[in-house]
Amino acid sequence: MLSVWMDFYLFCILLVLFIYVLTVNNITTLHKAYLAFHSLMMLWPICNFIINITPDQHLQWFFLNVAFIGLSFLGFGWLMFSLVLTRKFDGLKRPVFVLSVTPAVLCSILATTNPWHFMFAHSSSGGWAVRTYGPFFWFFSIYVLGYLLLSSVLIFRTAINAPESNMKKQVSLCMWGVIILIVFSQLDILFNVALFPLFGVVPGLTSFGIVASAVCYVIAINKYDLFRIVTIAQREVVDSMAIGMFVIDKDEIVLDLNKSATKFLKTQAGRIFDIKELLQLSKTQSPNSIFLEDYNTNKLKNLHTEVKLIKEQIMHVSINISPVLDDNKNLLGRIITLNDVTELRSLLEQNNENNAILLQQNKELLRIQEELYDVNKKLEKATITDDLTDCYNKRYLMQQVACEILASQRYKVPFSILLIDIDKFKLINDAYGHLLGDDVLRGVVDAIKSKLRRSDILVRFGGDEFIIYMPNTDRAGAFILAEKVRSTIESYSISSAKGVMHVTISVGLVSVGANAEISNNPEKFMEELLERADWALYESKENGRNCVVFEPSPCAKKREMTIYDKEQF
Ligand code: GH3
Ligand code: MG
Repeated sequence: MLSVWMDFYLFCILLVLFIYVLTVNNITTLHKAYLAFHSLMMLWPICNFIINITPDQHLQWFFLNVAFIGLSFLGFGWLMFSLVLTRKFDGLKRPVFVLSVTPAVLCSILATTNPWHFMFAHSSSGGWAVRTYGPFFWFFSIYVLGYLLLSSVLIFRTAINAPESNMKKQVSLCMWGVIILIVFSQLDILFNVALFPLFGVVPGLTSFGIVASAVCYVIAINKYDLFRIVTIAQREVVDSMAIGMFVIDKDEIVLDLNKSATKFLKTQAGRIFDIKELLQLSKTQSPNSIFLEDYNTNKLKNLHTEVKLIKEQIMHVSINISPVLDDNKNLLGRIITLNDVTELRSLLEQNNENNAILLQQNKELLRIQEELYDVNKKLEKATITDDLTDCYNKRYLMQQVACEILASQRYKVPFSILLIDIDKFKLINDAYGHLLGDDVLRGVVDAIKSKLRRSDILVRFGGDEFIIYMPNTDRAGAFILAEKVRSTIESYSISSAKGVMHVTISVGLVSVGANAEISNNPEKFMEELLERADWALYESKENGRNCVVFEPSPCAKKREMTIYDKEQF
């Protein structure tokens, strides 16, 4: 007994392995669907063969059940395979799937339970090879036939709506397969059930129908490269892209779409591509309607736009539309790609916001920097200028001017220094008050400045004393300038509430020639020069004021000043 069943058990193991390989391995849905379907088709002929050759009634009954189960599921199998062919299987809703499979399950139950004392089938002559059928068989047959007809109608509709002509031909072939099977299964019933007493058994009618329909499928698969690895790979690549893609014909009918495309627009092949629905024109009008106009009028142009769509959340979508043209530049259709750039956009916006903040902070920093620069400038100026007269002060003299003097000396350029003191200034203060004395100081400075060259530097040395540094100026040149200044002040009048005033100045002049001895300490050298100028000024005062006096050579031990009165020039 075991040896009889051994082969069967081995067959079962092989079947389990086959199903395992089919489900676990990464082959396409199309391959899986076809292999499952083809296996179903093989059941009827092989089971009938076994029933006819085995004398064992139990085995016959078992294989009869298997044969009827196979037959029950054939219609369903055709329908599903056609949906896979037309790429509608993925969009199949669960209730529709359950509804489609239910009749097949019911028929299987009916056939296998053979209820109420063989109301489905009854064995004759002690086995199931020759059998008579009860009322449930007729019920089963009508049910299966109805289902097959319904399947062929559905397949027919699918064929009509199939987007590509190739696909149309494939589905049409499948439909022919169903029709052939219907015809042969009905002939089988006619001859082997209804007219059995007249003609006896006419073998293999349904099996022939199954083989013929399988041939239709094989042609559909081979002729149209359905299982070609490149085509499948291309399909896989297109389907795995995150970018949604629609291919439409020139009448806007969707020919093909990938899986991601439905994220942007719920549609399917064979339907009109509703650009308005995609752009959500009822919700956001103006910018998208301009693009819509372009879409409708410029069909031969590449178009691009980015739209903001309101789905479960706001979505930024980049839309590219490119025409597909034939050799004569006639429009065949268009490819529409949709790319979700929400993340990119939000990054960009965040970046822009950060940039704007940075820009603002930069502006603020620049403003503070400018303010600091101004304050520094003012501070710098304050440290080297005199508040009252706006001349340079003594600090500037001792640092900057001292350095310039050293440079002049080093490059063997002559220079001169004037030490100016207002005559009897105390009297003005005493007579007119300190404030008016200040006005006189400012007036004298203005008058002096009007006679200076750009390179000359005027310093308030203290009180009513001023120093003028004249670079690149020898003794004669310095005297001319000193005299100009003196005479300007002399003729200068200062009007005040207490009348018009005149002041004079005394000037001590020091000149250093190009070949003078070089000193390395600027401040010390400056002090020496000032001392010499002071001597000359002193002499000027002694000489009756309002005059310019040269200091003699620094080597002179005695105070022998050369005095020049204004009358001498
Ligand atoms: P001399 O001809 O000998 O120079 O006579 P003088 O009166 O000018 O004498 P001296 O130069 O020594 O006096 C300087 C005076 O300048 C003393 C002080 O009252 C006055 N003075 C100093 N600084 C200022 C100031 O900022 N404003 C005013 N109004 N007067 C000042
Ligand atoms: Mg004075």
